Amino acid sequence: ALEGILRRQSLRESAARTYARSLPIVPVRARGLTIEGADGRRYLDCLSGAGTLALGHNHPVVLEAIKKVLDSGAPLHVLDLATPVKDAFTTELFATLPPALAADARVQFCGPAGTDAVEAALKLVRTATGRSGLLSFTGAYHGMTAGALDASGGATDVRVTRLPYPQNYRCPFGVGGERGAELAARWTENLLDDPKSGVTTPAGMILEPVQGEGGVIPAPDAWMRRMRAVTAARSIPLIADEVQTGVGRTGAFWAVEHSGVVPDVMVLSKAIGGSLPLAVIVYRSELDAWEPGAHAGTFRGNQLAMAAGAATLAYVRENRLADRAATLGARMLGRLQGLAAAHPCIGDVRGRGLMIGVELVAPDTDDPDALAPPVDPALAATVQRECLDRGLIVELGGRHSGVVRLLPPLTLSDEQAEAVLDRFADALAAAER
Ligand code: PMP
Repeated sequence: ALEGILRRQSLRESAARTYARSLPIVPVRARGLTIEGADGRRYLDCLSGAGTLALGHNHPVVLEAIKKVLDSGAPLHVLDLATPVKDAFTTELFATLPPALAADARVQFCGPAGTDAVEAALKLVRTATGRSGLLSFTGAYHGMTAGALDASGGATDVRVTRLPYPQNYRCPFGVGGERGAELAARWTENLLDDPKSGVTTPAGMILEPVQGEGGVIPAPDAWMRRMRAVTAARSIPLIADEVQTGVGRTGAFWAVEHSGVVPDVMVLSKAIGGSLPLAVIVYRSELDAWEPGAHAGTFRGNQLAMAAGAATLAYVRENRLADRAATLGARMLGRLQGLAAAHPCIGDVRGRGLMIGVELVAPDTDDPDALAPPVDPALAATVQRECLDRGLIVELGGRHSGVVRLLPPLTLSDEQAEAVLDRFADALAAAER
């Protein structure tokens, strides 16, 4: 039966399918960190729906919240009408927001995907400012619809100016660290100040506080504050895309809290729906320049997702899971750094909270100009497969898919974290042979 399902999928589904190729399993049951395949095998899931499952699979509080709505007879689909479920979600969301934003914020239900909320954010700042240009960053990922795609690292839209995202390791200026971040910030400031640069004041700047798909690259806090200052001084709305970093993942409830930056717009999805599709933007009320109906969408009101999301937000807040992610993430990073010291094929270990990346490289390069050894996507793919053989599901990311990514649920126990890293270390040793 298992082989039949996999074979039919490969025959019937689009050539665009991704995870199904590198992770040929057929999940039938799941709880917490664990997924069980149709063949009875169990896996530790550090993909977590690409970072969606803050509480892991089928957390009791999430299931309970969904069941409560189902049993109540409430309508499941009501466009953007007011409901008690939506009211409860909004109240919980506002309770978690940075207070300086929550004090004067509007929420807009977009949906159902992160990319829909990115589109809404871009259109909002263009509507509010009457300008059209956009500043985005190298390596960024904002989604797969036209506007979000254009705002991403491979931007093609002529209105988009791509700026260097600060990287410690593969620093575009070849210096890294604080110096590299300083140069990246100056680059941005010079471009905006120079009347001959061709960059006129844009409608907004969009950034990820930690690039996820780009290969797990945390932005330095000082750089984040510079971007806030440079945009504020020119009345450019700052959009923080927290689709992946939100809800405790990075060790703060929202990743912007690390730097204290208060963005004008936040783009939220993934974990806010408690494993069901939900996406919103939250923004300073002053930007609310829409005419009624100026931005719509049929699926803006998924009641089950709002109930699951409210339960998730409340659980993360009440149980201080962001703090837990910070502590456990630091410990995991430490152990991975130890592994890196013993394995030259690990070029870099980085992350924030439970958003962790291990970059795999070919260390014996003969390119004397290489600032860092070239990434080794083939090795990364082998590590991923060896992990799967050992019952561990990991994601790949980075420009060349050379970064193994760990996005475990925030409910991970100490023992589970050790088990994940034991399996990863074994897989790495096997892949190197
Ligand atoms: N922004 C970021 C930072 C993301 O990581 C993603 C998804 N990985 C998106 C936007 C797009 O979200 P979705 O896949 O739900 O459209």
